[in-house]
Amino acid sequence: MRHNYRMSETDMGGGGDTVLRGRFLYNEPMCKHVSWRAGGAARRVYIPADLEDLTWLVRSIPAHEPIHMVGLGSNLLVRDGGVRGVVVLLHGVLKKIALEARTQGMPPPPPDSDTGLIYAQAGVPAPKLARFAANHNLVGGEFWAGIPGTVGGAIAMNAGCYGSETWDRLVQVQTLDRLGQLNEHRPEDYVIGYRHAALKHAHEEWFIGGWFRLGKGDGHASREIIKQLLKKRIAAQPLNLPNAGSVFRNPPGDFAARLIELAGLKGHRIGDAQVSMKHANFIVNLGDATATDIECLIEHIEEVVEARTNVRLIREVRIIGERK
Ligand SMILES: Cc1cc2nc3c(=O)[nH]c(=O)nc-3n(C[C@H](O)[C@H](O)[C@H](O)COP(=O)(O)OP(=O)(O)OC[C@H]3O[C@@H](n4cnc5c(N)ncnc54)[C@H](O)[C@@H]3O)c2cc1C
Repeated sequence: MRHNYRMSETDMGGGGDTVLRGRFLYNEPMCKHVSWRAGGAARRVYIPADLEDLTWLVRSIPAHEPIHMVGLGSNLLVRDGGVRGVVVLLHGVLKKIALEARTQGMPPPPPDSDTGLIYAQAGVPAPKLARFAANHNLVGGEFWAGIPGTVGGAIAMNAGCYGSETWDRLVQVQTLDRLGQLNEHRPEDYVIGYRHAALKHAHEEWFIGGWFRLGKGDGHASREIIKQLLKKRIAAQPLNLPNAGSVFRNPPGDFAARLIELAGLKGHRIGDAQVSMKHANFIVNLGDATATDIECLIEHIEEVVEARTNVRLIREVRIIGERK
């Protein structure tokens, strides 16, 4: 299911590059924008003024130039050689969040429905979505409270924990394609899996926002669940050092952390990148880790775990850019 609507040049107030109202940064160190606090520079970073401005940016970039949408960079490593093309920072830009009665093209739910609908744009932090839901007595979104990324990143990664995943709650997404057109899709248009969501008919599209359906319930109880989940995380994860969460997906029926520990790699270090002593599926930056240190450690873990356990770990973190 796909709806398109193209804004006309008159709607947008002009044509050509001059309409861009956002901000370009040149040779911007991406360590400032990723949670590992390591990595190379982006030749061009763009911070859009708003959604309309973002559509203009996308239209103005030649098709051969890569565009990288970045949320809070909590699942991302940028290689030390830097990244070509344009990096677009969405955090703090697409930040609308609201209760909605219905999604476009769908009938409204009956008045006695025991669910509610939230529309959240891609730049909204996932923990804010969790709190917004609880504050409006909508339950089942508590798990987002511990995911330190944006809604866009959570949709792109199908982020989840404690048995819940982002796409379990999504009824519709809004996307922007390479032509600068806004589209709407339903979950059935995607292949959705563990930390993965991709359009069945491959198009280069980015998430602008999503409609989340949650059950009506007790907001106070929901806030208590959030508190307990955050406590659990603080106890289990090395949150005092820069990291990017779980580096590898858990293999079916097992845990990547268990296999890494079994392979004797807990505490293993390359440069200032270290397999966390607290949680072996986390790599922490002890201070001056380079992206190369982190990537070499990732490769080392893959090789050693495979040699010792016969399991090839699959990466959860995304790596972009050029090696130095
Ligand atoms: C301490 C810690 C704990 C974590 N715990 C969890 C957890 O429990 N569960 C979990 O699933 N993850 C977890 N993560 C990983 C991470 O927070 C999630 O994957 C999160 O959803 C990434 O969001 P982001 O905005 O930071 O994305 P980024 O890191 O900025 O981007 C990640 C990927 O998504 C793409 N992307 C980002 N925004 C968009 C968009 N709008 N449209 C299309 N593509 C986009 C990027 O291009 C990139 O490929 C954790 C990370 C940390 C640091």
